[in-house]
Amino acid sequence: AAVIQTKALEKHYQMGSETLRALKGIDVQINTGEFVAVMGPSGSGKSTFMNMLGCLDIPTCGQILLQGEDVTHLPAATLAQMRNKYIGFIFQQFNLLPRTSALDNVVLPMLYNNTPRQQALTQARECLELVGLGSRTTHQPSQLSGGQQQRVAIARALVNQPALLLADEPTGALDTETGLEIMQLFQQLHRQGKTLVLVTHEPDIAEFASRQLVFRDGKLVSDKRSTPACAQT
Ligand code: ADP
Ligand code: ADP
Repeated sequence: AAVIQTKALEKHYQMGSETLRALKGIDVQINTGEFVAVMGPSGSGKSTFMNMLGCLDIPTCGQILLQGEDVTHLPAATLAQMRNKYIGFIFQQFNLLPRTSALDNVVLPMLYNNTPRQQALTQARECLELVGLGSRTTHQPSQLSGGQQQRVAIARALVNQPALLLADEPTGALDTETGLEIMQLFQQLHRQGKTLVLVTHEPDIAEFASRQLVFRDGKLVSDKRSTPACAQT
């Protein structure tokens, strides 16, 4: 079943009198359990595409279906609820709250949907354990390595049990070894049936996914499925 689907998706940016077509007629269906790598040169439309999948920005034309529901024209507040419920975000620079414990960083998305405090703490601890940080729950980001901070961010992205995980260059700020450890964690989540979409510039990272999309000049120029290489350190 499709977690998210785009139909003839277009995004245009108005630059003075010029119109820049950042996405040109993108038709993609991402199914439950897929691990998708999004590739392409700088300026090819990867971030714009991810912003569309994440319901962070509204398309110029075309359609987006999230869990079968047309979200293209939903009001901003409804869209924000859909995002919180269905989508987990992971960033290159982790985007954790400083001077806030790992546990409280992971609790945060559950404050927005009024999860009772005790339940939120339990779920946050479970997610930190899942990413291998069960013994670091009281540490603040500054007391953690880059790889550990990214694990906290992944726990935060998982805590509402989203249908879709979106990661923008999640290994971009990490050394090769630590990046591989993060890819191992993504592969573990993939084996557990999670649906992931990850942007990367590195072909070596894209190999760990089960499907590779390539953008060029706003168009989807390649869409291939492959047996994922195994991330090993
Ligand atoms: P990538 O992530 O592959 O580097 P982007 O999606 O960021 O590509 O950008 C695609 C094109 O759209 C580029 O030409 C970029 O300059 C332009 N673009 C992206 N965001 C904006 C924006 N907010 N306003 C104007 N142009 C934008
Ligand atoms: P990436 O590193 O993923 O390629 P970019 O550096 O292209 O990201 O873009 C970073 C942010 O700036 C994105 O949110 C994008 O939408 C925005 N952006 C990119 N190009 C432009 C532009 N020409 N004008 C305004 N915003 C832009």
